[in-house]
Parts: sequence; structure tokens; C-alpha cells
Amino acid sequence: MVDYALIKKDLEGIAVEDHPALVKQKSRDFYWYSPILKSQLDNVTADLVVSPVTEEEVIRTLKVAYAHGAPITPRGGGTGNYGQAMPLSGGIILNMANMNKVKQILPGRVIAETGVIISELDKQTKAHSGQELRFHPSTAQTATIGGFIAGGSGGVGSITWGGLRDLGNILRLRVITMEAEPRILDLTGWDLQKVSHAYGTNGIITEVEMPLAPAYDWVDVIVGYDDFMDAVGFADALAHSNGLLVKEIAPIAAPAPFDYFTRHKPYLKEGQSVVVIMAAPHSMGPFEALVSRYKGDIRFRSDKVESMKGIPHAYELAWNHTTLRALKIDPSITYLQVQYPAPDHVAKVRKTVETFHGEVIGHLEFMRFDGTIQCSGLPMVRYTTAERLEEIIRIHEDLGCPIFNPHRYTLEEGGMKQTDTVQLAFKKETDPKGLLNPGKMIAWDNPDFDFKAGKNYLFQGLAAFM
Ligand code: FAD
Repeated sequence: MVDYALIKKDLEGIAVEDHPALVKQKSRDFYWYSPILKSQLDNVTADLVVSPVTEEEVIRTLKVAYAHGAPITPRGGGTGNYGQAMPLSGGIILNMANMNKVKQILPGRVIAETGVIISELDKQTKAHSGQELRFHPSTAQTATIGGFIAGGSGGVGSITWGGLRDLGNILRLRVITMEAEPRILDLTGWDLQKVSHAYGTNGIITEVEMPLAPAYDWVDVIVGYDDFMDAVGFADALAHSNGLLVKEIAPIAAPAPFDYFTRHKPYLKEGQSVVVIMAAPHSMGPFEALVSRYKGDIRFRSDKVESMKGIPHAYELAWNHTTLRALKIDPSITYLQVQYPAPDHVAKVRKTVETFHGEVIGHLEFMRFDGTIQCSGLPMVRYTTAERLEEIIRIHEDLGCPIFNPHRYTLEEGGMKQTDTVQLAFKKETDPKGLLNPGKMIAWDNPDFDFKAGKNYLFQGLAAFM
């Protein structure tokens, strides 16, 4: 039995919270997007929340937790969708949100503490020298940069820059190990893959160095089409227009825009599908020429409305914000994460649209993937049963569209459905007691797990919360 009262004493001088309601609040993320994860994780809670403000406090906390054998689950803004930041073995939530200083802004890069909110980071780099992050999740207003690196993949700007997995999109990470004497490691180059998108299972990120791009006052645009596939065709043409600078291209099928985008409703037409776009101001002229060629109906331009008061950013209609807006109106909606590999991504989208009709509502995100334009999708699904959801997943995969399953809390099942040997080897080196975010890396907990057997993994530690 871990003695949390004693741990609290050992951490004197560091902010520690043990009020059950507050601890439970910080033990949640957006897992409830998934009806499957909601039923599995609803009762999960930690024992303490520790909120360090310096790297020294992080090291002290890890040292104390290691000595007591207490699990540690790091947390940024808690906006992850798959229970990534939820403590499946209880223990300590390491709240990194108070380590939020931007340390240095240089031409083309920024060095910051892990807990800075992404939009705040962009605000500071823009004010300093007209620069911004190359891309950000649609949760930029609430997510931390460290949480994005440890839990996210790409987002607004990925149409130009690809994702976090691409070499050069993270420059350096400072990481603390979970050992009797925690070590400080500076990771660069290929070594970054050890900890990026590892859900904090093999090190605590305290500092990041990220590349920057020129900042613009991006214009939000919504273009309407009566047919979803016409919207997709226009989006594909826009994504392939080399001379147009855009930051976001998201086709979203009817009835979602009119029914779910309540603040934009006065500008939208019932029954229309849309493409949500962010374009650089100097690209707007040629952009209009392209829209005209593709017979699009420009319904909204942020540079033409009288006031943007009360109207969310275009990127808050896209990525997983589309699902969030749908869920607010229709709680029976859930979603999938689909890839439509190039070069026949548009044909693959067409096949899925024809297969599912209204049961799956199309939502695509165009992005650069391994140097090529293709689309990923976060289609909304009218949820009926877990069995039907599995069937929808299987049909997508049979159509050549791999699924990254957002209804699983493990790294492997939500990703490539195989062991990441690099991340596993690094965990053996940095977390010998397996105390960091237990239950998220199957390869650590159950090395014999057969990914091909088609069974879902159930972490044994969860039994304590059943
Ligand atoms: P958290 O949710 O707090 O943590 C995420 C993971 O990182 C957890 O496993 C946590 O343990 C770990 N972690 C946090 N901080 C550290 C640290 N310092 N060191 C080590 N591990 C750490 N994701 C995208 O990639 N693109 C999107 O566009 C996008 N849009 C979204 C829209 C909505 C409405 C929602 C709810 C989610 C979306 N997501 C998206 C998922 C999520 O927002 C991103 O992954 C986000 O960047 C997570 O940041 P966070 O600070 O909230 O991290």
C-alpha cells in the first residue's frame, strides 16, 4: 500500500491537492467522447494532484514517488480524447500546467516550458517577431505544448507542415526520467520519437524547442456545396494549389454544418456541406478565383463580417471540435479517425460515403503526409452498439482506409496495433519500476499480448475502479 499522507509530507513546499472532488476533476480528460471509454474509465481517479512550478520540483516529486512506488500520470490541459491523461492505477497526477514560461524566442524557433497554453505561446511569438508555431491542435486555447507533443499528432497547419512525427517539427525536448535519481535528458533528431506521442509513459517533458513559421492574420472562410463530394473535390484542388497559402482545409458533410455550427448558422444554408478554410490575406484574391472555377458558394469570410464577437475561430469548427459541436447537439454521436491514403484518397472517400449514407457523417482534414497531400478523417458516427461500431471500423479497413481507433486507451490499439520497440526500449531505461502512466503501453504490461488475435486489451489495474 502506498502511503499518500506520507508522500504529501515528503513533498512539503510543492503544491499538492488531495481533496477528492478536485483530484477527480484533474483525473479526467475528454475520454467521454467515446461511449466505450466512458463506460470503462468513468470511475478512474488519482490520490493526489501535484503541481510543480519548476524543474527542480518535478525532479523532487519523481524522486519521492519512485521511493514510495507511487504511479505518476502527467497532465497538461487534459484535452486528450482517449483517457491518455487518466490515472488507470490511481496515484499522482503531475499537473504540468504551471510550468508555463516562454523562455526564448529566436528567428525560426522558440524555447518554452512544457505547460504553456499553445495560443499563449503563439501570441508571444507573434508579438515578439511576427512568428507562430507551424501547426497546432484545434484545442490551442486550452491545450499545453507538452501535452500536444506527448498526446497529439497534428492539426491546423498540417496541410503545409505535416505532423509531429515528421523530422524537424520538434527540435528538442528536455525530459526527466523516473528513477531513484532522476536524470535530465536533452533529446534531438530521431531520439525525439522515443517520447513524442508516448502519452508520458517514459519520461516527463519539462522544456520544448519548437520551429516557427511566419505569422499571418489568417482569414476564416466557409465555402458551401450542395454535394459533399463536390466539396471534397474543391478541397483537394485547393490542397494541390502550390501558390495558395492556406493553414486549414476541412470538408464537412451536411447536415453537420447547419445543425451543429450554431454561431455560424446565420451564414450557412440548410442541407449544404462546407469546406472550412484558413487562408493568408494575400492569397484571398487567387483563392476567390479557384472557388469560382469550382462553383463554390462563399458563405462566410472573417474579413468581411462586421464583428467576430461571439463567433469562434474557423479552426474551432474543425479537427475534433467538429465532433464536440455535434456532441453538444446530439449526444448519441461519436467518431472515428480514418486515413484515406493517397493517391486515390478522393475515390476512397467516395466509397465510404456511398457505403454508409447518413450513419457516418463525413469530416475530412487535408494534410501533407510523407510529403504527399492526402486526407485523414474524423467522421461522425451515429452510435448504436459497440458491435456496429466495430463493423463500421472493419468495413473502412476493407475499403483500404486504416482506422486509428479513438475508442481505446492504449498507445498500440489507438495507433499502429503493434509494439513501438523504440518507445518500449526507452521505457525500460527511464522507468524501470513502470510507474509512469501505467496501463497505456501494452508492450510493457503484457509483452505476450497478441495484437493479431482481434481481442481488446483490458488493463488489470482498472479492476480497482469497477
Ligand atoms: P493532456 O490531455 O493533458 O495530455 C495528453 C497526453 O500527454 C497524456 O498522456 C499526458 O499524460 C501526456 N502529457 C501531458 N503533459 C506531459 C508532459 N509534460 N510530459 C510527458 N507527458 C505529458 N489532437 C491533435 O493532435 N490535433 C487536433 O487538432 C486536436 N483537436 C482536438 C479537439 C478537441 C475538441 C479535443 C477534445 C481534443 C483534440 N485533440 C487534438 C486531442 C488533444 O487536444 C491534443 O492531443 C492536445 O494537444 C493535448 O494537450 P493537453 O495539454 O490537453 O494534454
